[in-house]
Amino acid sequence: MKSYFSELFTGGWSLIVGLKITLKALFTPIVTVQYPREKSVITPNYRGHIDLVKFEDTGTHKCITCGSCMRDCPSDCIVVDGEKREGVKGKFCTVFTLDFAKCSLCGACVEVCPTKTLDYSDEYELAGFARGDFQYDLLKRVEERE
Ligand code: SF4
Ligand code: SF4
Repeated sequence: MKSYFSELFTGGWSLIVGLKITLKALFTPIVTVQYPREKSVITPNYRGHIDLVKFEDTGTHKCITCGSCMRDCPSDCIVVDGEKREGVKGKFCTVFTLDFAKCSLCGACVEVCPTKTLDYSDEYELAGFARGDFQYDLLKRVEERE
C-alpha cells in the first residue's frame, strides 16, 4: 500500500516537472526559423562566396579587369578577361568566373581589388550535386541581381 502511494506521488511530481518545462519552453522567445519556408537574417560578418558588388551610381560593378584578384588568388579559382572599348577607362570586363569548389575564402581577392568591387555574398544555399555546380558566372549574377 505504501509503495502504491509513493509511486502515485512520484508519477504526479514528474508530471508537474514535465509541465513546468513545457510551459517554460512555450514562453521562451523562438530563436530558430522554419527553414526553408522562412529564411534567417544573415549576420554582416558572414562570408559567402565572393561576388561583384553592384554600385548604385552606375547600376553595375566597377571591375576594370586589372587581374589583381586572379593573380593573387592562391587557389586559381578566378578567371577575368576583358577588352579595350572606346570611352572606357581600363578594360571592359567580358569574363568573370569563380570556381567556388576550389575557393578557401581567404579574402586575398577582396583585399587587393582597387575598385572595391569584390565582396562576400550572403549566399548560404550552396549545396550542389557536382563540382560543375560551383562554377559561378559573376558577371551574370551581378546583372540579374536587383
Ligand atoms: S577568397 Fe581566396 S581562394 Fe577564394 S577566390 Fe578569393 S583569393 Fe581565391
Ligand atoms: S581586382 Fe577588382 S578590378 Fe581588378 S580584376 Fe579583380 S575585381 Fe576587377
